[in-house]
Amino acid sequence: MTDLKSMTEAEVTDALRAMGEPAFRGKQVFTWLRRGVTSYDQMTNLPKALREKLAQAYPFTVPQVARKQVSARDGTIKYLWRLGDGNCIETVLMRYHHGNTVCISSQVGCRMGCAFCASTIAGKVRDLTPAEMLDQVLFTQMDSGLEVSNIVLMGIGEPLDNLDNVLRFLELVNHPDSLHIGMRHISLSTCGLVPGIRRLSELELQLTLSVSLHAPDSETRSKIMPVNRAYDVETLFAACHDYFQKTGRRISFEYAMIDGVNDHDWQADLIVKKLRGMPGHVNLIPLNEVEESPFKPSRRLAAFQKRLESQGVTATVRRSLGGDIDASCGQLRRKAMLEEQKGECSQ
Ligand code: SAH
Repeated sequence: MTDLKSMTEAEVTDALRAMGEPAFRGKQVFTWLRRGVTSYDQMTNLPKALREKLAQAYPFTVPQVARKQVSARDGTIKYLWRLGDGNCIETVLMRYHHGNTVCISSQVGCRMGCAFCASTIAGKVRDLTPAEMLDQVLFTQMDSGLEVSNIVLMGIGEPLDNLDNVLRFLELVNHPDSLHIGMRHISLSTCGLVPGIRRLSELELQLTLSVSLHAPDSETRSKIMPVNRAYDVETLFAACHDYFQKTGRRISFEYAMIDGVNDHDWQADLIVKKLRGMPGHVNLIPLNEVEESPFKPSRRLAAFQKRLESQGVTATVRRSLGGDIDASCGQLRRKAMLEEQKGECSQ
């Protein structure tokens, strides 16, 4: 592996040792790479010869701002980053009373095919490396001048379809010489890849798991989320119940309200039934309209929420931030791709 920025401290130290360097150089280089340096020349406590050797052996790139939009309404900032190979991804910085939250992408595109989502229209191009996920946090902080206290893996891509790299990223942001952001300040959202949920349960991480449910019955869910044909609602809920048993962590269920598709009373009642035995939380999302998709936002949000709450299930309606800047999933990248088949982003 030549991606030094994706390595753990022990691996960086081994790499430096293999170049004949003492162990303390490993810690120095590891720490610099977590500070958002843009070249080895900024690592001023390293001898010049070593900096040159590293630049040869372990070249690295940093993301460039391809577009940046700031919401006039709520200060949400959306970045379209251009990666070293020309691909573009989105990162959103949201400002809440409890601190700044950064929403990062885990893949370039997505192959999960959810019918209402802009991120998946052009499919998946590639996985992001741990360094590219970390850079989204570092460079968003540096460009905005705002400190990030929470991370959500809810941008473009399916994190559990790139789980090895995501786990390594979590290790990197968690490290005291890095951003030192605790697992309880991190959320990971999945469309329901059951083997990944089971693997996470085994690790007993203290992060918050969000499951994009969007329908409690397999008939509806399979129509809007192809992943349900591989892991149906029964299989998914069995994994969620086991996850709660194992980790003691409450799962958050994302539910984008789609007019006439998943907003019926019987579906609220079915959610209540499926959650029995587990303290779930349902996050109702007003659907963001995607040009290429036929779905319309539901007008039954309040009634659906009331029906869940009256039966003892906590349900919130997600406050929509950045509505004026295409700040929802994949929309900015999609727009840039359509507008620019001219070279701003290669994908
Ligand atoms: N792949 C992961 C994480 C990325 S999407 C997942 O599926 O959970 C983050 C959330 O936004 C998911 O719950 C997703 O289903 C939802 N989402 C996607 N498109 C949307 C839209 N048009 N309106 C509302 N929510 C949407």
